[in-house]
Amino acid sequence: MSIVGITRVTCPGCGLAQDARLVQSINTHKNPADKQRLLRGELNVLVCACGRRTQLAANVVFHDPDADYFCQVAPGGEADVAKAAEAFRASGARGTQRIVPSLNALVEKVKLLDAGLEDWAIEMAKVLLLAASPEPDLDRVLLFEALDGEVIRWVLFASELRPMASPRSAYAKLASRTHARPAAGEAQIDRAWAVEAVRQMIANAS
Ligand SMILES: [Zn+2]
Repeated sequence: MSIVGITRVTCPGCGLAQDARLVQSINTHKNPADKQRLLRGELNVLVCACGRRTQLAANVVFHDPDADYFCQVAPGGEADVAKAAEAFRASGARGTQRIVPSLNALVEKVKLLDAGLEDWAIEMAKVLLLAASPEPDLDRVLLFEALDGEVIRWVLFASELRPMASPRSAYAKLASRTHARPAAGEAQIDRAWAVEAVRQMIANAS
């Protein structure tokens, strides 16, 4: 079932209060249009008559039955993440389960799923890319953009958006280290997870 609500939102641009459509559940079989809206960055966005676009914070559950994949957006910090983890446990659902802090993070996860790439190996690849850059800074936001043949395309959020590319083979090498794959119940596969995974990889190599 698609959980769609109407919520009253005040536009931060002009102060006008208005109703906005809020999607809290996407099943790729039942709501393919919502998945496309998500990928276009149009899901749960208030577009005001004044021109201001506002992303609405919401707990969104994404489910792809073909991939047996669940991802929950928990934007409300640690308590929200704990609640999402508990909901996963209580549901008894198998398959891949992920918890992300934002809709943008969900978009990246869905792109990776559609490209057939392992998110944990991608997160490790990001850490290695950032560490190898001329100005290493692991706090920088680097997002997967697309798989383009043998090249992985990224976008680095610096002072401006900077496109980056890396060979797929470097990713594939990481993905082949299947013992690094997160265990069931490890749902937050993010930068912090990957920094630790890379640290262990380097420790084991020496
Ligand atoms: Zn407005």
